[in-house]
Amino acid sequence: MKHLTLLFSFIAICGGSFAQSIDKIINKNEVERIEKVLSDDAMEGRAAGTNGADKASVFIAGEFKSAGLKPEKGKADYFQRFSMFTTQVVSSDLTLNNNKLEADKIIVISPAKQLNITEKSGYKTARIKAGDDARSIIFKYLSAEENYIVWVDTSFYKLFPRLSRLKSMPVFEQRSNLIFVLTSDVPDTYSFTISQDAKEQKMKNVVAVLPGKSKPNEYVIFSGHYDHLGITNQPQGIDSIYNGANDDAAGTTAVLMLSKYFKALNNNERTLVFAAFDAEEIGGFGSQYFSKQFNPNQVVGMFNIEMIGTESKWGKNSAYITGYEKTDMGKILEKNLTGTNFKFYPDPYTDQDLFYRSDNATLARLGVPAHTISTSKMDVEPNYHKLSDEIGTLDMDNMVEIIKAIALSSKTIIQGKDTPSRVNTADLQ
Ligand SMILES: [Zn+2]
Repeated sequence: MKHLTLLFSFIAICGGSFAQSIDKIINKNEVERIEKVLSDDAMEGRAAGTNGADKASVFIAGEFKSAGLKPEKGKADYFQRFSMFTTQVVSSDLTLNNNKLEADKIIVISPAKQLNITEKSGYKTARIKAGDDARSIIFKYLSAEENYIVWVDTSFYKLFPRLSRLKSMPVFEQRSNLIFVLTSDVPDTYSFTISQDAKEQKMKNVVAVLPGKSKPNEYVIFSGHYDHLGITNQPQGIDSIYNGANDDAAGTTAVLMLSKYFKALNNNERTLVFAAFDAEEIGGFGSQYFSKQFNPNQVVGMFNIEMIGTESKWGKNSAYITGYEKTDMGKILEKNLTGTNFKFYPDPYTDQDLFYRSDNATLARLGVPAHTISTSKMDVEPNYHKLSDEIGTLDMDNMVEIIKAIALSSKTIIQGKDTPSRVNTADLQ
């Protein structure tokens, strides 16, 4: 764990005439420079909502700026700021049909400090009956846009305490209120007066845009998450910092390199959006927030990049695409790589549901051809979510080749010549 000085240098690709060759722009020195900064101990493991993540976001914004990229339309800087709240009920007065209800029979998911709810408050209600698939119904209401009360049958009394985990999950400032109540009957009248302690955490995605020449309202997104796991209170030897060099400083590095490359080319017909997400590791919140800023119908493709710093199971010059069969985007990418020695494969770890576990998932659920590109050997990757995920474990030359391959493979999509088929949302989990 060497402590490295931050190097904010603007050499090589800034100023003067741009060399158009991809090898000149996407090169090992630059990839290594960016990786070093992001995975340095000074970034404190980049946990969402911490000073370390803030430092990383400032560095990423500086890179976008030095490359000459613009912020989103109408914005003064590259930050998409949002707040998450972690709440705890401090007092409650609860009745069902005028009978007192114990505090452990209710689960509150809301960013509000004070809730006063009765049957006249306009909440929608739903019932989980004995024998229902409670888990999947609960999952559905977690993303409900309206205020809901869900009456959970008492036959789920064993599941209910386990749902309490949901209470400690951070929630968006904007989210609707969701109340689960364990009850044998649906009451005619009810009254819930609840006070919560709400701790705010400020987070931000870093987003830059390269407007399209002839199809500015069609978007192609390149993304990765810059947050990671922070600092552990159970150090191993002298190391306590989760540097996340592969997860996902590597993907963030790729996004920055791609932004520099496409800015230098400056011939994209569609608008390119480069996004470094916050809060992936604690629930994919950065990409959820980001996805709400777009009309999904205008997004023609998303290249999400996660963990490309190690060799894939097929060796060098290869990577896999999650959800490969869900659209024809993978086929388009392969076609654009004809004549190169790089190969994309369908995700070989389908039992791990990787398609749903990264930042592509939110837009994919809205029908966008949104895939994650990775090389991580998810069955045997030795440093995954470990303190040992350090820059020294990365194959920098191979990483450069992967970033170049992503750039080349996207060619006909950013030129507006190919449009990947949409995800059929009815097929999704
Ligand atoms: Zn990750």
